[in-house]
Amino acid sequence: MKKPAEKEIHQLDIPAEIDVAWVLKWMRPGRTSVRVEEMARELAEKARKIARPKALYKISYPRVIDKATIEIDGITFKSKVLSKLFTGLDTVIPYIATIGKELDALNAERGEMMKGFCLEIIKTLVLGNASEYLTEYIKKKYKMPRIARMNPGSLDDWPITEQRSFLSLFDNVEERIGVTLSSGGVLKPTKSVSSIIFPNESGFIPCQICPNLDCPTRKAKYNPELHKQYLA
Ligand code: SF4
Repeated sequence: MKKPAEKEIHQLDIPAEIDVAWVLKWMRPGRTSVRVEEMARELAEKARKIARPKALYKISYPRVIDKATIEIDGITFKSKVLSKLFTGLDTVIPYIATIGKELDALNAERGEMMKGFCLEIIKTLVLGNASEYLTEYIKKKYKMPRIARMNPGSLDDWPITEQRSFLSLFDNVEERIGVTLSSGGVLKPTKSVSSIIFPNESGFIPCQICPNLDCPTRKAKYNPELHKQYLA
């Protein structure tokens, strides 16, 4: 891969895809009514019209400093897992994806609980789809057929407190895609995500080494042996 300028940042506008059946599935399984279905359809249509999901990403160069420290474009991060995963890599792709301010501003009125719940699910779906869209785009564009991803905060090993350093990999995030960071390290709009994509042949998924067994969004079975290998 040809190395672009260190600070080269790319912006991608992403289509808003909303599968109403998926939204209904997450609302009240087996307990949705015709009225609720109608409301979900209307909200999904409204959301689809106004949503402008987008992402920033850049081609970055990692350096493993020691077993628990890495650098990306000269910025230091502390993580044993990243140190192991980045050994031997010369290119990684940090990104920030968001549903955008337009959809974020679509809210239910006070007391409209079901509507608010439905919108929450729609926004979650739009963000998940945006992240997947960007990932597939990068795999294709940069010829990375097998990749893995890690977010600041997804594991105790790479805490959310590194979010500020992570955002400093990019310039003018707010001006470009409207994402800001609260003093507590939370991205705004809250339906935004920061993550890093990197080539990985092993099929690594952070959930494999995350001991949070009750997590409802787990994507892979916990593997205590792998946990030891990464975090011993
Ligand atoms: S199990 Fe849940 S908390 Fe742990 S990494 Fe996976 S999604 Fe995140």
